[in-house]
Amino acid sequence: MMSRWDVVVLGGGPAGCGTALALRRRGVERVLVVEAGTYGAVRIGESVPPDIRAVLGGDLGLWDAFLAEGHEPCFGSRSAWGSDVLGFNDFLFNPHGHGWHLDRRRFDAFLARQAAEGGIAVATGVRFAGSEELEGGGHRLHLSGADGSAAVVEAGIVVDATGPRGRFARLRGARARPLDRLVFVAGFFGLPEGGPLTRQTMLEAAEHGWWYAARLPDTRCVVALAADAEEVRASGLTRPDAFLDRLRRTRHLLPALDGSGLEDGSVATWVAVSYLRERVAGANWLAVGDAASGYDPLSSQGIQKALTDAVDAADAIAARLGGGTDLGTHYPHAVNGRFADYLYNRNRFYATEARWPDASFWCNRRARTELRPAAGRA
Ligand SMILES: Cc1cc2nc3c(=O)[nH]c(=O)nc-3n(C[C@H](O)[C@H](O)[C@H](O)COP(=O)(O)OP(=O)(O)OC[C@H]3O[C@@H](n4cnc5c(N)ncnc54)[C@H](O)[C@@H]3O)c2cc1C
Repeated sequence: MMSRWDVVVLGGGPAGCGTALALRRRGVERVLVVEAGTYGAVRIGESVPPDIRAVLGGDLGLWDAFLAEGHEPCFGSRSAWGSDVLGFNDFLFNPHGHGWHLDRRRFDAFLARQAAEGGIAVATGVRFAGSEELEGGGHRLHLSGADGSAAVVEAGIVVDATGPRGRFARLRGARARPLDRLVFVAGFFGLPEGGPLTRQTMLEAAEHGWWYAARLPDTRCVVALAADAEEVRASGLTRPDAFLDRLRRTRHLLPALDGSGLEDGSVATWVAVSYLRERVAGANWLAVGDAASGYDPLSSQGIQKALTDAVDAADAIAARLGGGTDLGTHYPHAVNGRFADYLYNRNRFYATEARWPDASFWCNRRARTELRPAAGRA
């Protein structure tokens, strides 16, 4: 592996690959993406709004290639939220048309493939393990391979795209200011052809959390329950039988599944943190996507935000490499501004569900409306 790069991107999810692709379009050539995984494992987070077209197509030039991937169109949402009655919200008047339900593993692999085909070096199965600042500027990065191998590379600029853990940013002392934390228990279901689950995201609020279901490519769907960690633990919801038992209590979601079975008979758990990092740029580094800020999946904005951060980060890096402004001049304002919009909408949406005023889940959501100070070590 070449040892000196203009930019090393740590993490090859949407934010990392998006940054690399946007850098390439700005003429930055010596870019390395370091990805710990191999795009073989299940990934979650699949609903993207119509506006994804502006960034995927306009900024990254991938629209036709994306369409050829055959993801599932999504025409809006149906939700029982604030009331037992299903309400509808469609994308009819959106100038970008409809949104999408992605096969998420395939989408992330697609972005990495596009990056590699565009001439970016993408190292998979390689993990960022540590770093030191170089005296003349830049960073020395320690990488470890899944096979136990070790490598050292140098980067003029580092982009932290390692997701919510923000491995590099934390080492630079940039702590996270927490807002909220949800645990998701999710399972994939095989759907009958022509079944009642429409091409709309389904949302259903319940006393101890909320559910969503999204129809995916290949007549599958994902069903997930968002709850507090205490509830998941106390009710044993990570057990498939307990999860299915809870699902049977839903009013709209269960009939929409039309008797479909849980694939592999298993469910998996993910944690979604809502937060903003205190600093998202520093001396020769910046953080993008979930390494910079985390949004509640209720917003369906995580991927859009990751790609938009990526484009803004690439602008900042290209300007900097061209001898222009510092990385911290404009980019953090863009990240903070997006977070402020997200926070406003998130709080407004949770405030509209008032059916369980004493339930701890809803009390917690209504109590956590502001960022708290970062606590402890980075
Ligand atoms: C349950 C759930 C549901 C969601 N639903 C939606 C949704 O419907 N719509 C939506 O838009 N968003 C959704 N999201 C959020 C969305 O998935 C994230 O916002 C998005 O994945 C952020 O992209 P990213 O590239 O910043 O981070 P990630 O996708 O987390 O990518 C980080 C990458 O870094 C790699 N990595 C980590 N550590 C290292 C290391 N040390 N060295 C090298 N590589 C490393 C990881 O393997 C990974 O590939 C959901 C999230 C959850 C948890």
